[in-house]
Amino acid sequence: MVYTNIFYVLASVLFILGIKKLSHPRTARNGNMIAFIGMMIAIVATLLAKHEIEIDFQLIAIGIVVGIIIGATFAIKVQMTQMPQMVAIFNGFGGGASALVAAAEFLKTGEITTFTLGTIILSIFVGTLTFTGSFIAFGKLQGFVSGQPIVFPGQQVFNALMALALLIVGVYLVQIPGEINYFYAVVIISAIMGITLTIPIGGADMPVVISLLNSYSGVAAAATGFVLMNNGLIISGALVGASGLILTNIMCKGMNRSLANVIFGAVGLAQESTGDSTTKQITVKSYSTEEAAMIFDAAEKVIVVPGYGLAVAQAQHAVREVAEFLEGKGKQVLYAIHPVAGRMPGHMNVLLAEANIPYEQLKDLDEINPEFEDCDVALVLGANDVVNPAARHDKSSPIYGMPILDVDKSRTVIINKRTMNTGFAGIQNELFGFDNSIMVFGDAKDMLQQLLKDLKEL
Ligand code: NDP
Repeated sequence: MVYTNIFYVLASVLFILGIKKLSHPRTARNGNMIAFIGMMIAIVATLLAKHEIEIDFQLIAIGIVVGIIIGATFAIKVQMTQMPQMVAIFNGFGGGASALVAAAEFLKTGEITTFTLGTIILSIFVGTLTFTGSFIAFGKLQGFVSGQPIVFPGQQVFNALMALALLIVGVYLVQIPGEINYFYAVVIISAIMGITLTIPIGGADMPVVISLLNSYSGVAAAATGFVLMNNGLIISGALVGASGLILTNIMCKGMNRSLANVIFGAVGLAQESTGDSTTKQITVKSYSTEEAAMIFDAAEKVIVVPGYGLAVAQAQHAVREVAEFLEGKGKQVLYAIHPVAGRMPGHMNVLLAEANIPYEQLKDLDEINPEFEDCDVALVLGANDVVNPAARHDKSSPIYGMPILDVDKSRTVIINKRTMNTGFAGIQNELFGFDNSIMVFGDAKDMLQQLLKDLKEL
């Protein structure tokens, strides 16, 4: 036991170091590896504490092999743009696993203390809620469930009644642990709450929800750690719970949502859009890459704004080639990274790092916004919601209040996308019709490759 705990402390130190290193793209890969080593140490230490393990090692080995095959297949096959769905599913499985372990402890015959029963109920509640909530989040992102907020009359009251029912059933279960129906009631109420708390949240707020569910999966793991009195699980669960909550808070600020609203499932309710900016016809100016090349030729400072479309087109290498060409001509090129550009936190950083774009050129929202006033060309590549000025003034817009990149303050805004289709939030973008805006339609990668050819021919 003493040795096991020493290994758990070592693993925890590695988890914390790993998380610290994840905070910068340059050290993130290392951070991931360090946390991986920490997890391996924790797993091996647990397996070595043989006296605490009551099942066959063969069964454990089969579980590890099956887990490795599924995890590796997902990690290799999943597209960068589908990463949030994968994270949602893995969060769900994490919560589900914690609930199952706690349920197994409950179903074991023998004396259970009130404290253990309490932690079992907490683990089953949070774990099951995370499981069903994560699958709704997955469905919303994958398009299986409507991305619009799904609301029904009295939803908040219903959620409150469910929470009250859970509390009552939980208290009964603690008093009469032998009554299996109370146990099933806890599972069913928790599963329903996962669904009813997630469905009213609009698709545009899904990053916050996924981050929050990630935090919940950590809370469920920590609760299960208390059930088993396993210090490694308590610490790692608490770390996931806390870091998930911090990320949720950062995301909330990025999208101007209040954390309380997310937790109580109110997000999206007041945001159904009927406002002008979603319905007004927009007249745009469409340019060829040849014409755009001439504008770049005259520019001195260019700010590239990558968005989800850049990831879809896998245009990160093409944009680096264009940027390098412009820099070769003595122009300054910077990249503006919005905290929720793309479909997951850090999506654009990861994408641009893959193309070896220097980290020093990546500027976050607060840093880059004052630079637009002094910018000749803002090149918006497959970004839409994160540059939509409606967020500043249209109170009926679903993205009202979300901080945006102030591209419209540049002398010229060149926007590349394939059509006039909307972005993730499903709303039109008035920016496209502004006097200083120019559209260059096409797939981002094709457009950039053609732009480079045209620039070279000038
Ligand atoms: P948006 O989703 O607003 O817009 C992306 C644009 O890319 C679309 O308008 C689309 O237009 C265009 N596009 C798609 N494919 C291509 C292509 N091959 N070439 C060129 N353009 C293309 O993206 P943003 O990055 O601006 O905003 C992110 C949105 O996603 C926000 O609403 C955010 O809240 C949400 N979100 C963010 C998450 C995160 O954690 N980062 C997670 C989940 C959601 P067209 O079809 O006409 O080409």
